[in-house]
Amino acid sequence: MRLESLNRNHSYYGLNSYHIIMRFSKQKETVYQVLIDTHSHPTANWVFEKAKSILPNISLGTVYRNLGQLESDGNIRSFALKGIVRYDGNLDQHSHFLCENCDLMIDIHPKNIQRKYNNIIPKNFTANSIDLTITGFCNSCKST
Ligand SMILES: [Zn+2]
Ligand SMILES: [Zn+2]
Repeated sequence: MRLESLNRNHSYYGLNSYHIIMRFSKQKETVYQVLIDTHSHPTANWVFEKAKSILPNISLGTVYRNLGQLESDGNIRSFALKGIVRYDGNLDQHSHFLCENCDLMIDIHPKNIQRKYNNIIPKNFTANSIDLTITGFCNSCKST
């Protein structure tokens, strides 16, 4: 189903699904699948370890290259936090909470956040999307 949604995104290229699927190498497809199957916002190294269990010959360089391509094609997003680049296969608009102690990163969906942000940006500007990361301590780190 994921490839179908990619096909839709790329339909302006005027290519049929067969061509689109062929443009995704086995490695790239695996890297993408690993990423959309997790909610952990992993690093490239984590993606590499998972991808290696599916395709033993894949290299870390290939994983980096595929992640870069997937990102520039708009299929995934990445962010650098505390000097570490993490990847997210969830393109729905959402924000994040990052635990400063254990690096747990979860999706949060603050209600009415867009309306709130319209109050703090310059007058007559309009907020269309909000990419917010709140840092702090998760439940288990708070109690230690
Ligand atoms: Zn924690
Ligand atoms: Zn996320």
